[in-house]
Amino acid sequence: MIIQQGIPVSPGVAITKAFVVDATDSRVPRRIVPPSMVAEEVDRLKKSLDQAAEDIQHQRDVASAKLGEDLARIFDFHLGMIRDPHLTDQFVMMIEEDRVTAEYAVYFVMQRNAEKYKNLDNAYFRERGTDVLDLQQRVLALLIGSARKELNQISGTAAIVAHDLTPSQTAALDKDKIKAIATDAGGRTSHTAIMAHALGIPAVVGLEDITSNVATGDTLIIDGNRGCVVVNPDAAKLMEYRQYVRKLERFESSLGGLAQLPAVTKDGTPITLQANIEFPDEVATAVSKGAVGIGLYRTEFLYLSADSEPTEEDHYNAYVETLLALDGKPLTIRTLDLGADKLVGYDGPPIIDLNERNPFLGCRSIRLCLQHLPLFQTQLRAILRASVHGPLKIMFPLISNVMELRQAKMILQDVMEDLEDQGVEFRRDIPVGIMIEVPSAAIQAKALSREADFFSIGTNDLIQYTVAVDRSNERIASLYSGAHPAVLQLIKDVARVSNREKVELGLCGEMAGDPAFAMLLIGCGLRNLSMTPPALPEIKNVIRAVTVEQCKRVARKASTFDSDRQVLNFLRDELRKVLPDVADGRSIAIG
Ligand code: PEP
Ligand code: MG
Repeated sequence: MIIQQGIPVSPGVAITKAFVVDATDSRVPRRIVPPSMVAEEVDRLKKSLDQAAEDIQHQRDVASAKLGEDLARIFDFHLGMIRDPHLTDQFVMMIEEDRVTAEYAVYFVMQRNAEKYKNLDNAYFRERGTDVLDLQQRVLALLIGSARKELNQISGTAAIVAHDLTPSQTAALDKDKIKAIATDAGGRTSHTAIMAHALGIPAVVGLEDITSNVATGDTLIIDGNRGCVVVNPDAAKLMEYRQYVRKLERFESSLGGLAQLPAVTKDGTPITLQANIEFPDEVATAVSKGAVGIGLYRTEFLYLSADSEPTEEDHYNAYVETLLALDGKPLTIRTLDLGADKLVGYDGPPIIDLNERNPFLGCRSIRLCLQHLPLFQTQLRAILRASVHGPLKIMFPLISNVMELRQAKMILQDVMEDLEDQGVEFRRDIPVGIMIEVPSAAIQAKALSREADFFSIGTNDLIQYTVAVDRSNERIASLYSGAHPAVLQLIKDVARVSNREKVELGLCGEMAGDPAFAMLLIGCGLRNLSMTPPALPEIKNVIRAVTVEQCKRVARKASTFDSDRQVLNFLRDELRKVLPDVADGRSIAIG
């Protein structure tokens, strides 16, 4: 039995078999396969080698036609090597004798061959060492790629153990089969974590080397509440967890009745609880959990899960479907927030520069839209056309200065005029707001309030930019904290300005769905929270157990501490006083 600690990002506990997917970009762990799987591994290896040979031959043909036969010959070394039966024998022998995965055999044998070349005196042969590593990466990508494609062809249920998953891979997981996720990489509010939470799949990330310690078929306990993974638990651990799962189920069903009750504090202040979604089909769950609207629709997921670039009709259909599912409840559509960790899943025009040095500080989100006007205009046209089907608002992400907002609004105005000229129907009075997720926007809230109908604080990004910690980097995850006094100060300031300038204010980062922060946020003046749907009942539970006065006191006291640890401990203690069950391990914390 091994127990590993990571970062809990999606609550719940699963006890199930593991399905391991290796990484393409790091050292491949040595994993042993059961004797019954050896033939399957050899088969996977041979298929990948054949595919690699076919791909290289194709590239050679293209190079020969375009650049001439002389240059095309550079592919001959790769071709000769991939077709060398002696090399194939080395892989097969290792799989059969050492019972390792095809990935490990390819990794190990080619690493050894590359070293041999690199130690030679002759410069030509030393260069070949690089070719061998190139070929190694090509075959590994094929092996691992096919394993990833098989994720949803798993028979029965399993927990995915992977180095990392992209947001679109996570979004595509079949919930009936994939019961939990454990990854080496990832941070608290990476989009993979957000997707897992939205799907209701327990997840632990940032485990660093879980892929080295687990083999496909191992039994796992993935505890998304406490952030630990137990590999091959003994009987006592299994018993302990089975009891814990039953306790969680009882707690879960005790919250079930809350969906129909109003989200009102004990002293009668209503709090608007809305949901964050990535796809139209999430509306039904959101409403069933008690959402009175959608406070954040992450429309970029249309691009993440598409096979080709979405058209205006694709946008329009998605928005109308969402509005119809909401049946009159309000919808806040956030314009495309592509870039950073949200990359398109298809080959198309290179909108996003994959080689950008600092993608989180780069041409992402509204910046990308303002540099690719057709992309932006297509989406805005579709939103405007959809506006006749229900109440919607438009929200621009990552606004970092006033000019950016003015520019975005001007483009919206142009699109409106075009539609008018063409006699297309739309609503002119759509509220236009922005996300406050960059410190410059929080500090300049007053100036922005003159241009925006509403603000929504995006704490996921606001935290990363305030404390300078990449939200998806597990190595510095302990520094990523919503309880950091500087973050609290910015939230308080924005709330004060919004109140004074009469700008509608909401908060839609993951912090909104964390029970530990609920009292603090209400105490700061927030009356509109939007969160991942599974978190709604628990937050409503807290709201109904507290008074605004109590929350104000908590907010005042929280701002007197100077470390995030003190803030978090204080917030948990205060929550424990009103709801001991929620505070003790059930919740996942941002801090
Ligand atoms: C945020 O940054 O808080 C947010 C809600 O947007 P996203 O998580 O999509 O970046
Ligand atoms: Mg954001």
